[in-house]
Amino acid sequence: MLMAPVNFALPKRCAGCGHISGPEGNFCTDCWSKLDILPEVGCLLCNQPVSITGSICGPCLDAPPKHDGVLAAVDYCDTARDLALKLKYGRKPGVADVMAALMVRHARRYPDAILVPIPLHRWRIWQRGFNQSLLIARSVTRLTGQQVLPSPILRTKRTSPLGGLSRTARSREVRGAFKMDLAHIGSIKGRQVLLVDDVYTTGATTNACADVLKRAGAETVHILCWARVLKEDR
Ligand SMILES: [Zn+2]
Ligand SMILES: [Zn+2]
Repeated sequence: MLMAPVNFALPKRCAGCGHISGPEGNFCTDCWSKLDILPEVGCLLCNQPVSITGSICGPCLDAPPKHDGVLAAVDYCDTARDLALKLKYGRKPGVADVMAALMVRHARRYPDAILVPIPLHRWRIWQRGFNQSLLIARSVTRLTGQQVLPSPILRTKRTSPLGGLSRTARSREVRGAFKMDLAHIGSIKGRQVLLVDDVYTTGATTNACADVLKRAGAETVHILCWARVLKEDR
């Protein structure tokens, strides 16, 4: 005799605070209201929100980026930071799906793009066991059907944390830290690339990687990230 299926599904937990979330969505109402979803337009070069539409922000006027724009899901608030830490150190790979759900609107603007994660130095991979940016890239492509190229960029130097360094010191630190894996040049040449990162802070690392991809012949390189630290000098 057939038994009616019983729904054993546990109530869904908020990805931010762990409390039971609403019937839909990955967040409770409280955490959702704290997330600042970033708009798709902003500075003409990096998409940072600017007060005058169609203008270029201060940092980009100083030094135009190598990439073609930053596509960030949310502002780097406490909830956004907690999620990034959970993914990186909390061994909760499901968090990548939660991030991806809010990143797809940007990814879908470039349906033919190939996704490339920011590489970790191999020592970090050994320590952590995974590259969080690759997990995010895979989660995004499960929703969009785009292709991921897991490691076309090699990290040849272990860089120090860039926080607190001046702009010049940051670019000096990452200079020469990345190079193209020659075996993958054919997959990058002439392609639109979405360079995937968890948190976009100073932009030094992503800029160095975008430079490597552009030199390999990428048509465009946009940074696709979960959260972005918005600079003071808009
Ligand atoms: Zn919550
Ligand atoms: Zn800008």
